[in-house]
Amino acid sequence: MVELKTEHEIEEMRAAGRVVADALAAVREAARPGVSLLDLDAVARRVLREAGADSPFLGYRPQFAPVPFPGVICASVNDAIVHGIPDGRRLRDGDLVSIDCGAKLGGWAGDAAVSFTVGRPRPADLRLIETAEAALAAGIEQARPGRRIGDIAHAVGRVCRAAGYGVPDGFGGHGIGRSMHEDPGVPNEGRPGRGMTLRPGMVLAIEPMLIAGGGDDYLTDGDGWTLRTTDGSRAAHAEHTVAVTADGPRILTAR
Ligand code: MG
Ligand code: MG
Repeated sequence: MVELKTEHEIEEMRAAGRVVADALAAVREAARPGVSLLDLDAVARRVLREAGADSPFLGYRPQFAPVPFPGVICASVNDAIVHGIPDGRRLRDGDLVSIDCGAKLGGWAGDAAVSFTVGRPRPADLRLIETAEAALAAGIEQARPGRRIGDIAHAVGRVCRAAGYGVPDGFGGHGIGRSMHEDPGVPNEGRPGRGMTLRPGMVLAIEPMLIAGGGDDYLTDGDGWTLRTTDGSRAAHAEHTVAVTADGPRILTAR
């Protein structure tokens, strides 16, 4: 079921989205060589707590997961694609980090992710991250009344493929509202003109995931959560929570 949100509800979702944006900005600010993923999780926890927000990640346990998620961020480094568990690992010069964060405020969820490098960046990583952001922007551009889910999926996938990157099979975005994951699914590849027609009040998390090596398959770590590239190449992830409005797409997790 897809729940359409009123303008007032979208305004309330914007408040949750702003907390996510603040948490991601604070994490990015804190990330440098020597800082651990647990340190970054603590930074995000503080932002959520000070905003009076809860974490939809903490304790989350979908069917595939052997244990509830232990952090408020997913921290996926280098060949980790998404769902990395924040642990004692310390960032090193040249790492590529993807941080995914959610917040629940006033009964509404926000969900966003950003990828960045720490220390001296590899040019190839910067290109991968730029492409993830371009794919996200292309998807957001399609989030308009009358367009279809397939238009978003096609726009996202085309940018990733044109740059030669892989797109992990079966993972993508989702509707979002009172819960973090709602209908409809928003694939990262698809055919234009197909799928559900977008209407004002739909709120979607759009989230391209890119594999530098160009393959689409992935491995799951022994922790049951972390998705990793099979070829050891690096991955990037970008995400925003976006409302479909009569005036066009509105990014609820913008800074
Ligand atoms: Mg997310
Ligand atoms: Mg998401």
